[in-house]
Amino acid sequence: MTGLQVQTTFHVIKQISTMYKKLITFIRDWYQTDQFIPLHEPRFKDIDKEYVLDAIDSTFVSSVGEYVNRFEHDLAVYLNVKRAVVTVNGTAALQVALRLAGVKAGDEVITQPLSFVATANAIAYNNASPVFIDVNRDTLGLCPDALEQFLDQNAEKRGTSAFNKTTGKRIAAMVPMHTFGHPCRMASLIDLADQWNIPVVEDAAESIGSRISARHCGTFGKAGVLSFNGNKTITCGGGGAIITNDDALADRAKHLTTTAKVNHPWEYIHDELGYNYRMPNLNAALACAQLEQLDDILADKRELANAYDTFFSNVEWCDFLKEPDGCTSNYWLNAVITHDKKQRDDFLKITNDSGVMTRPLWQLMSNLEMYKHCQKGDLKNAQWLQDRIVNLPSSVRLNA
Ligand SMILES: *Cc1c(COP(=O)(O)O)cnc(C)c1O
Repeated sequence: MTGLQVQTTFHVIKQISTMYKKLITFIRDWYQTDQFIPLHEPRFKDIDKEYVLDAIDSTFVSSVGEYVNRFEHDLAVYLNVKRAVVTVNGTAALQVALRLAGVKAGDEVITQPLSFVATANAIAYNNASPVFIDVNRDTLGLCPDALEQFLDQNAEKRGTSAFNKTTGKRIAAMVPMHTFGHPCRMASLIDLADQWNIPVVEDAAESIGSRISARHCGTFGKAGVLSFNGNKTITCGGGGAIITNDDALADRAKHLTTTAKVNHPWEYIHDELGYNYRMPNLNAALACAQLEQLDDILADKRELANAYDTFFSNVEWCDFLKEPDGCTSNYWLNAVITHDKKQRDDFLKITNDSGVMTRPLWQLMSNLEMYKHCQKGDLKNAQWLQDRIVNLPSSVRLNA
């Protein structure tokens, strides 16, 4: 190294360490705490407790109750979709939505490698195999160009269905996922899906409140799926929903998720193999209260995203991930893209060591033991992102 290089390197290191100090101060000021700051924690107010106590007082805590009906109604109204069928969690919702989209044992389902493991698990619960196609670097969601290339090279139409020429299996559905709340390029994905006659089931587990122009994520395909797990934008402890504009599909979803019990005043008759996947009324009470607060939560999260955006606009080696053009993201989890893997690792270490929780991306599902044998396209963007993404604290503030 020349003297000048040493000097420059030193200068850069100093810049970087100042940046971390400023970032940690910024996050601590935002949440007004010197305690540990989690990535995403739920926020509960009096109304949440009120509704839960009401459900307890009613004794209808379990499989039937007014809060279940009310939440299904309120959620559908909020999302401007015909029907919502609520379930015990998002994974169960996705399993059933895929079955109702026509996925059968031995089929294939196209999805992205960059997702929470539930996406691929729900496919596997239907005894189908995921096929992993790359994502876009800006949306982190299923890439229409990569999908088109894969289908052109590997698929053929037989009758009304698309088949994979390499494996001989039917391509029965595709599952785009709106990562961290940022909408995928749905218009192009739906075009391709229509061309190939492949039903779309959106994994909108992370994207309640996210929209493409005015339309909510989860309402573009045959069905969409939401999650109300404790780490999501709104929560009822555990819960999920299947949303759809197809009445027949919604009726089937309700039937299958409630043990396929035939309506009868006293007899227990089940007319097919169903699941006990319904959302308990106790959870639905909390979900109703949380949904009433969703707009306030979204506004506070947007404020934080804007503040992060301003902060990182002065940091050259780190890009804040913004909502795609024409889209409104719920900014469920804020994220930055670092320059390289080493920088990502430093970022994770320095922030976590300071009691500010940050996390890398999930391991790509295509690398997990149970899915590494599955067919995949060229996953260069997913791999690139995996090495660079860091999620930042994103909870709503207590007093917002
Ligand atoms: C949270 C999540 C789910 C569903 O999770 P549950 O915990 O079963 O409600 C599914 N897919 C993605 C991408 C998720 O983030």
